[in-house]
Amino acid sequence: MDWRTIDACVRVDPGKTVKLADHDPGRGDVFPDKKEAEKRLPFCAEEINKLQDRLWAERSRALLIVLQGIDTSGKDGTVRSVFNACGPLGVQVTGFGRPTEVELAHDYLWRVHGAAPKKGMIGIFNRSHYEDVLVVKVHGLAPEKAIEQRYDQINAFEKHLVENGTTILKFMLHISKDEQKQRLEDRLSDSSKHWKFNPGDLDDRKRWDDFQKAYEIMLRRCSTEHAPWRVIPSDKKWRRNAIIAAITHGVLDEMNPAYPDPTWKPGDFTIE
Ligand code: ADP
Repeated sequence: MDWRTIDACVRVDPGKTVKLADHDPGRGDVFPDKKEAEKRLPFCAEEINKLQDRLWAERSRALLIVLQGIDTSGKDGTVRSVFNACGPLGVQVTGFGRPTEVELAHDYLWRVHGAAPKKGMIGIFNRSHYEDVLVVKVHGLAPEKAIEQRYDQINAFEKHLVENGTTILKFMLHISKDEQKQRLEDRLSDSSKHWKFNPGDLDDRKRWDDFQKAYEIMLRRCSTEHAPWRVIPSDKKWRRNAIIAAITHGVLDEMNPAYPDPTWKPGDFTIE
């Protein structure tokens, strides 16, 4: 399947009302075939690596990947699978956890802008500024009015990045409540995964409906022409990876970063 067709299946049109219940996290119309997905992933990952090399050589634009999703939705796994082939010099991953005291003393976008990728880089946000309209909204960590203003502020911030040479790709990793249960149980039953289990995740699971609602508002209000959201069916990890890899490859390929022309010709030099 062509990447544009895949993209059209998952992209949220600006201003569109989203009901996550209507988005099947196990939908099989995109990459119905596991074998095909498993072939496409390494191909795209390798192409992303080659394009990143050109992006770095060109040094005039950046790509920002935003990964959002509830606990266990597969943000870490996506980074590992899709960007595995990229050299570590060209990719910068930033995880956004609970803000520190210093971060809280600034506006909520301060730490985010500081982590935006410089020209030539692919930046990956594992969680992002969207936590400030998700967990912060669900747990009432900021006044309602302040949160309400954030959707427009975020859109303006992202527009600023785009107008200054950063392409933004936002992926919401959408899993079902049953799949989350399974993944949390796996973390409990496998001792090598115990470190990943956080009892606090169970509290958030109890607020499942509130989180889904907060995600729906985020998708409606912050899917813009300049930075649309994509809702990625993520119950199957292989499908999630293949979709994100295909879209990232397609978008980077379209950016078409170019090696700069040298100011010299190879014949100008003799190496003794
Ligand atoms: P992860 O759960 O992604 O592996 P961490 O263990 O660092 O990573 O946890 C991140 C936690 O920080 C999540 O519970 C998330 O909701 C929370 N968090 C992120 N950003 C904010 C924020 N701006 N305000 C409050 N909590 C936040």
